[in-house]
Amino acid sequence: MPVGRQGRGRGTALAALLLCALALAGRATDPPRITDASAFLDRTEELRIKDHRQFIERLAQIHRESPALTTAEQWHLRYLDALESSLEGSYATAEQPLRDVVGHSGDPTLATKASALLMNNLAVGRRYEDAFQLAQQLTIDLPRIRDKEARLQVLSYLSQTLNLAGQTNLAIKYAHMMEDIDPSKTTSCYSRTKLVAALYNAKRLTSASPELQQVIETCEAAGQPIMATTMQLILGTLHLEEHQPAKTLALLDRIAPGIRINHYYPHTLSAQVQRAQAYAQLGKDDDAQKAALAALAMAGPDDVNDYLKDAYEVLYLVTKRHGNTAAALAYYERYVAQDKGSLNDASAQALAYQTVQQQILTRKLETEELGRQNSVLKLQQALDAKAAETDRLYITLLIILLAAIALWLLRTMRSQRRFKRMAIRDGLTGILNHQHFINEADRILRLLEKKLGHACLISIDLDHFKQINDTHGHAMGDAVLKRAVAICQQHLRPSDLFGRLGGEEFGILLHECSRNQGLDIAERIRIAIGTTPIEKDGQHIAISASVGLASTDTSGYGLQRLCKEADVALYRAKRAGRNRVVADAGNLAEA
Ligand code: GH3
Ligand code: MG
Ligand code: MG
Repeated sequence: MPVGRQGRGRGTALAALLLCALALAGRATDPPRITDASAFLDRTEELRIKDHRQFIERLAQIHRESPALTTAEQWHLRYLDALESSLEGSYATAEQPLRDVVGHSGDPTLATKASALLMNNLAVGRRYEDAFQLAQQLTIDLPRIRDKEARLQVLSYLSQTLNLAGQTNLAIKYAHMMEDIDPSKTTSCYSRTKLVAALYNAKRLTSASPELQQVIETCEAAGQPIMATTMQLILGTLHLEEHQPAKTLALLDRIAPGIRINHYYPHTLSAQVQRAQAYAQLGKDDDAQKAALAALAMAGPDDVNDYLKDAYEVLYLVTKRHGNTAAALAYYERYVAQDKGSLNDASAQALAYQTVQQQILTRKLETEELGRQNSVLKLQQALDAKAAETDRLYITLLIILLAAIALWLLRTMRSQRRFKRMAIRDGLTGILNHQHFINEADRILRLLEKKLGHACLISIDLDHFKQINDTHGHAMGDAVLKRAVAICQQHLRPSDLFGRLGGEEFGILLHECSRNQGLDIAERIRIAIGTTPIEKDGQHIAISASVGLASTDTSGYGLQRLCKEADVALYRAKRAGRNRVVADAGNLAEA
């Protein structure tokens, strides 16, 4: 069984000492009349710790005189009322007004103060989970709090709440931050009180610790006797933990007058229990029992706290030592009940802190998860965009490919047409080449043969063409060839075949044409060639042609024979002096 104070539950006991100390400082004086409500409220707030009695009276006064208050002043008053309820320990009364101030006052500084006070009240009221959630929020908000007073208040309450949560390092950090903001004696007293409380909870404090001596001196110098006494009581506890009960008793005697004057319940109770513990350690069991019973007499029937637990422990030890087993057992049960209370308290704190930590962690994870999902989404969008871009690229490529294929097809078809044309046409004049002329003429003659139709084959050769080339040049010769072809075409029908059989020699197959009709046409062509002047680059050239004609009427449908007959006729025309038409069978048609 544990004997003497353990670390567990220290926080709660200290919180009670530190908190309620605020409610008892100061002495009553006559308050001035309210002329400026805003200034009056500000001053009232300042007095909350320095002169709590005056604080209460001034609040009563403003309610009594009910001056015309602006909305802002009304919110300030509401906060001060809640503050007063809190200092009196009426946390339930304070809660709603504080939540209203936080949520609806529209004054960030006032809301911050209210939030810090609410957090503190929740922690003291053992609603740790809510308290630590507010602590978390205030920690986040802290860098944005510019108002010095509000900042000090937040830091002070944070230090205390985190100390309750067993987060002593953070509690120490916040205590140091308070002193950094304002090194004045009053602030030093408060900040060092928080520091010592955290060190005590962290078991980093002995009765010889300089921090303890310093805070006692600082608070005395700052005119804060309540705070100083609270620290003295911690020193008394430390003496007991270090098994120096005489020192505890000496200390208690020294601070007793102050405790009596202040008449502050946690101080009185704590001092009384310490006295019992000191006597017990000294073996003065009767004195110990008397002191412990006196301490218990101060408490309410349902009170559960560390002081009462310690008092029952003293009673249990003393009665057991005296062999009073039944009484010892009864005290032990009471002790366990109190210990259980503080134990539950401690586990509730740990649980609440863990819960909040867990929630923070979860939120962080959620944020990270959200962030991750966001990245995935962004990546998806990027991929989609990329895919769309790729699709567009593919489509463009496809279009280009199709266009290229189409172009290629077009070009192929064109070149095919060109090749085909080249295969059947003469390059210079555009009329059928020799080979194609022969093929076509043969085909037509066969058809005509079947239906016994008529056709004439005309062979034309330009006269003295070599001279034209020699005189005017080859280009002029080409132009003459083209011109001669054009003249011939004017006398032909679409059904007639016209081809270039050699250099300046042409063949014509007159379709459905009798021998006489053929001679007629041949004659007209010869005349046209001979009479149409050819002009190029200002030069005028006269040409003539000799023409030989063969007819199916006399030579039959065989192409070879027709050609031969026509050639013979042409030869004869040349021999006869050129520029004339000669038909087969020796009929001459002179120009
Ligand atoms: P003839 O009256 O006896 O027919 O005399 P000719 O000069 O016309 O006959 P020949 O066969 O001796 O000459 C034909 C000339 O035609 C020879 C050649 O230089 C020319 N020739 C052949 N093909 C072309 C061509 O495509 N362009 C040009 N400019 N001259 C050609
Ligand atoms: Mg010739
Ligand atoms: Mg010739």
